[in-house]
Amino acid sequence: MAKELIFGHQNPDTDAIGTAIAYSYLQNKLGYDTEAVALGEANDETKYALNKFGFTAPRVIKTASNEVDAVMLVDHNEPQQSVSDIDKVKVTHVVDHHRIMNFNTADPLYYRAAPVGCTSTIMWQMYNEKEIEIPQDIAGIMLSAIISDTLLLKSPTTTDQDKEAVVSLANIAGVDYKEYGLKMLKAGTNIADKSEEDLIDLDAKSFELNGSNVRVAQINVVDLPEALERKDAFLKAMDEASKREGYDMFMLLITNILDSDSEALVVGSDESKAKFEKAFNAKLSDSEVKLPGVVSRKKQVVPPLTNAFEA
Ligand code: MN
Ligand code: MN
Repeated sequence: MAKELIFGHQNPDTDAIGTAIAYSYLQNKLGYDTEAVALGEANDETKYALNKFGFTAPRVIKTASNEVDAVMLVDHNEPQQSVSDIDKVKVTHVVDHHRIMNFNTADPLYYRAAPVGCTSTIMWQMYNEKEIEIPQDIAGIMLSAIISDTLLLKSPTTTDQDKEAVVSLANIAGVDYKEYGLKMLKAGTNIADKSEEDLIDLDAKSFELNGSNVRVAQINVVDLPEALERKDAFLKAMDEASKREGYDMFMLLITNILDSDSEALVVGSDESKAKFEKAFNAKLSDSEVKLPGVVSRKKQVVPPLTNAFEA
């Protein structure tokens, strides 16, 4: 069988990288020839998890069609979040937990989606269905992905299936998931040594909302006031990125992972800012607003923004 690449979205997080590794192992057991790769460098949190369980970061690719004819996607489906030449390769498999948008194929494919907290939760179910034993290191990286996406099972995206997967995978990986999980999440909160330009791009996704190009970035911290000391520099970097990349609105969600609260910074036209305010029923004050309890981009940010932009 011809080789296929497996990857998650651009600006990869622990789910994008961890689930690609786990899916590649599963598919190879089932007779496919696959390699897990990434569409960007691993972030600090992901590096911590990879290191903990003995993995090296997957190779970073810019394009896929120069290497393979077919690919498998995890943790995304929207083309603008995928590899730059996604239109030049055949997508044979998708495993995802996001909305489906602008995704079309010429041929039938395997597509598995479920509204759970993490793609690795679906992956855990797939291993169980196929009765493939999960090795300790693969269990560890899948566990890390679920902890990351659900903020240690505290995000409103968390389902009973995620909780069940975490308990089972922690058992195989041989770690106390609460203790390990907090260490892993904290490893991703060191913003002091990074530029504002880097921070607004670490975990950022683009969404096409009724013709508007909307960028939503998120950074995890343990000290919101410390992060907000850099507000002016963040706004400047967001403004520059918007001009360069043509974003109609750029929103930065700064999330305190310890108390599950966020502060949002927003740049864009007056029209898009008005849509933002309508979406969250909140007034921006000097481009800033508190969003108590908001931690999930996919469940608490993208749906209200989509409604506001489509109204
Ligand atoms: Mn992801
Ligand atoms: Mn995910």
